[in-house]
Amino acid sequence: MVKVFAFDLDGTLTQHKTALDDKNRTILEKLAKQYTLIMVGAGSCIRIHNQLGGFPMDIIGNYGMQYAKYTLDGLKLVRDDVIPCADKALIEEKCNIIREKYNFTEYAGDNVEYHASGCVTLPLLGTKAAQEDKLAFDTDRKKRRAFYGEVCELFSDYNVFVGGSSSFDMAPKPFNKYYALDLWCKENGYEHSEVIFVGDDYGIGGNDESVYLSDFRFVCIDDYTRLDEVLSSWL
Ligand SMILES: [Mg+2]
Repeated sequence: MVKVFAFDLDGTLTQHKTALDDKNRTILEKLAKQYTLIMVGAGSCIRIHNQLGGFPMDIIGNYGMQYAKYTLDGLKLVRDDVIPCADKALIEEKCNIIREKYNFTEYAGDNVEYHASGCVTLPLLGTKAAQEDKLAFDTDRKKRRAFYGEVCELFSDYNVFVGGSSSFDMAPKPFNKYYALDLWCKENGYEHSEVIFVGDDYGIGGNDESVYLSDFRFVCIDDYTRLDEVLSSWL
């Protein structure tokens, strides 16, 4: 008995970092009449809310470190965990191990990007790399997947994701989308079996992989413009 649809955003409902279009907005509106909807995102709640054009739904952000409820007065942040990076020098050192071993010692800008939440990004081409270089770097993710396991081992305090176009994104453990959705179910009285997660990034190192590999039912999206076809039996 399905009661909840949980959604990823980028690549599932929209193009990466692009506004929700009318077609997929209509799908959310239809689903919202029958089901509870929840976003489970990697970015901040406010970024997700804005990208959704203010669509009225609650949002889990930063892999569960943030939670925001939609109210008639707008979005209200009710949880905003911050886990400060304990030892930046150690993070830099570990990033340099990867850079030296895999020949990424030349980069533009900074070695590491630190986010306010405590999440960390290792941008292989640097924080100031040109957009076209980033996009062309690893379109099939094979380059990064080749040493993904090693990055996970090295940054054992973090859940590591093959993120963006040329980076590794890391959230302090235990935060990932599975942890976030499980916590949300406990807080809101849902069984896992009552939830369907809809996401696109279910491959190795993808930020939806933790849900894909779990007991939650997972609907795979490989083309966000065909979301209606994949979800047709629930619409
Ligand atoms: Mg995605």
